[in-house]
Amino acid sequence: MSALRDLLVARIAADDAALVQLLGDFVRAASPNPPGDTRAAAAVLMRWLEDCGVPYRLVGPDPAMPNILASFEGGRPGPHLVLNGHIDTFPTIAAERWTQDPLGGAVADGRLYGTGSSDMKQGTASMVALFCWLHAIRDRLAGRLTLTAVSDEETFGPNGARYLVEHHAAEVLGDCLLNAEPGAPTTVRFAEKSPLWVAIEVQTMGCHGAYTHKSPSATKIAAAIIEDLAALEATEVPLPPAVAQAIEAGASEIDRVHLPGAARTMGAVTLNIGIWQGGTLVNMLPGHCRIEADIRLPWGTTPDTILPRIAEIVGHHQGASMQVMSKQTPRWSDPAHPMVGNIIRNAAQVAGWQVRPIPSLAGTDSRLWRERGVPAFTYGTTATNVAMPDEHTDLDEWRKVVRVQALSALDYLTQGRAA
Ligand SMILES: [Zn+2]
Repeated sequence: MSALRDLLVARIAADDAALVQLLGDFVRAASPNPPGDTRAAAAVLMRWLEDCGVPYRLVGPDPAMPNILASFEGGRPGPHLVLNGHIDTFPTIAAERWTQDPLGGAVADGRLYGTGSSDMKQGTASMVALFCWLHAIRDRLAGRLTLTAVSDEETFGPNGARYLVEHHAAEVLGDCLLNAEPGAPTTVRFAEKSPLWVAIEVQTMGCHGAYTHKSPSATKIAAAIIEDLAALEATEVPLPPAVAQAIEAGASEIDRVHLPGAARTMGAVTLNIGIWQGGTLVNMLPGHCRIEADIRLPWGTTPDTILPRIAEIVGHHQGASMQVMSKQTPRWSDPAHPMVGNIIRNAAQVAGWQVRPIPSLAGTDSRLWRERGVPAFTYGTTATNVAMPDEHTDLDEWRKVVRVQALSALDYLTQGRAA
């Protein structure tokens, strides 16, 4: 181990109690989104940066949703690494079913409990701490390190990372992104499926429920449309070879982490009817029905190849019309990127974990960097009870993940190359 690695590991060990305190304070400063006022939580991170003597600034269009931006140059030229985490959390789910105070940040049995403790205050705290640790040895690093702690992730809102990549691109895009969303510390995620959201409205005359010969039923037409849409799940998708290989190699780990069936779901188009609303009274024939479909696309297909098929299905049904609510093209970063190698090597050394590069089913802010051509990787702790009662982070696992993240960033800024 090099002297610099020894120095970093010693610093992390020395800050152990302070780091756990930071996470507890961060959890106690509630930042549910919606409504999305993250000022108290951001202040906890700002205090840590100030105590370390690290300059930062707050940017963003909404003062109640501050994004923390900080950056430094190393002692010699090299690649630009960007660290990312979010400050906002889901609102507390079913507070009455928690065994711990959702805003208490208490430690019990080696776990730190609270809303957002897993998604992703642990990861954002570790990115802030990592930034400070590397800032202290910046003269011995190559390249540049930037910290982005953002406030508008949970609702895919416009005021967080999206604002940064659109308004501060030169500062925040860099050569590589490391995002610390939870998942599993035995996987590094290099790709995300992308959502295609479509609203379909069915309008018919409607009438008294006893006179079914008078008008077609909007709810029955919607049911037929849903049955037809299910055919989209059989779409043959030509996955890019690197993605297909990663899914195959990681299949058992994907199914272990996300439950059996996840590996198969990963490479397939999926359909979820998130909303199906119609009818007023049991004895009225509905003249209106609205469905909202959440279609998830794997790599190798795009919204523009699927949308004409949806339009064709909708066009076959009387009174039906469609509107695209949101569409994104699925992206992936190279699973053979040096950062992936760094994480695999350091996870084996620090914790004995065998890490697999795999795609992700759900979305993170990493996609915003991938959309702009920047390789982006997500590596974090096990997601535990996210958006459920008793959300928590296992502190021993977190300590190991913090070290893997830190050493991998250090390796990138001492040996890595800009991709
Ligand atoms: Zn998250």
